[in-house]
Amino acid sequence: MPTSKTLPYDVIIVGAGINGCTSAYFLSQAGLRVALVDKTGIAAGGSGAAGAFISPKFHKQGPLKELMDVAYNEAIEFYTNVLPSHTLLKPLVHMSQEDNEEPVYLEKSAIVDARAACEALAEGIDFYRLDIQSPFYRDNMWHCGDLQSSHLVLTIGAYPKILPVDYVGLRGIWGHRIDITTSTDIPHIFHHFVSISPTLKEGVIAIGATHNVHYSPFDFDITYDIEAGRSELIEKALKTLKLYNIKILKDYTGLRSGSNDYMPMLGSLVDVSATQALHPHLQHGKAVDPKEFIYYPQLTMINGSGGYGFVLAPYLAKCLKEYLADGIPLDEAISPSRYFSRWAKRKKG
Ligand SMILES: Cc1cc2nc3c(=O)[nH]c(=O)nc-3n(C[C@H](O)[C@H](O)[C@H](O)COP(=O)(O)OP(=O)(O)OC[C@H]3O[C@@H](n4cnc5c(N)ncnc54)[C@H](O)[C@@H]3O)c2cc1C
Repeated sequence: MPTSKTLPYDVIIVGAGINGCTSAYFLSQAGLRVALVDKTGIAAGGSGAAGAFISPKFHKQGPLKELMDVAYNEAIEFYTNVLPSHTLLKPLVHMSQEDNEEPVYLEKSAIVDARAACEALAEGIDFYRLDIQSPFYRDNMWHCGDLQSSHLVLTIGAYPKILPVDYVGLRGIWGHRIDITTSTDIPHIFHHFVSISPTLKEGVIAIGATHNVHYSPFDFDITYDIEAGRSELIEKALKTLKLYNIKILKDYTGLRSGSNDYMPMLGSLVDVSATQALHPHLQHGKAVDPKEFIYYPQLTMINGSGGYGFVLAPYLAKCLKEYLADGIPLDEAISPSRYFSRWAKRKKG
């Protein structure tokens, strides 16, 4: 544990998944003094479970596809240049679950060793194992336990919120990945009912999916049935390929967090009570320019990347760095405040 924890940092990042680790990497490369904090460890959340395929969004046109195309190209370049030993370039075959659609063959695709990538990005950055609850801003500083910083970045994925920002609608979706060996040769990455892929470990094949909307580790009445999860993954994989002599090596599970409109979130957070007090007519549906909302000072959130956290992280972290180090404004289209007015109206009464 670093010893200089009483000194203020430029930035504290809470959450050491791929978003937190990539942000820490970009910000420290820009010369900022960064503390990375996680209650469990690096890549302890959804990031540690991810198959971590780097692929674009197929089909459907629109703003999400456009953003994903930019992020996908940046991600391929980032992982191959910055983390070459944790990145395996492989072509991808994307097969639609609808019978009438042709498979898509993509030459430029990759799989990243999720945990090793996060650890490599966090290397050399002050890391603290702390459970941060209710961080607060006083005397121009964010306070997280004994740590202080000018700016706070929240990258806590699908975990319970640590500030009262209920308007930020995020859905946690549970996923399960297994590493297996099989005597079947798998030359490509396959995306079909589940993902099937070679990995950086010689002879090890990963099969994974995030699809379970009914299970949450925060719902203590339900336990996840790992055996049933494995069987489901293998049953679905067998609909794509004949896999012989399967031996299961390891399970990885975790939650990913998706936004209601599937766009990721990068931006400041609205201080709900201060904004509602200033604009009481919001509850009657009166339009207020988001510029007039009151935001938590010096705070940015990255979240809601859905099943594309590894694809989006380098792009989002680069934008965060440009915002904090170079003063370039963030894209309002992906600001979490986009949900606020509607939420405030619904909260009426
Ligand atoms: C099985 C599976 C397969 C996937 N496959 C892919 C894929 O192929 N490609 C892809 O791009 N994406 C994939 N994803 C999605 C991707 O993993 C997520 O989008 C990504 O991991 C989100 O990263 P994150 O950093 O936002 O959150 P997380 O990785 O969940 O990190 C959040 C961290 O915050 C910490 N934390 C939470 N609360 C606190 C607190 N109060 N104090 C301190 N620390 C706290 C947690 O311990 C955790 O480590 C997959 C996900 C799963 C589960």
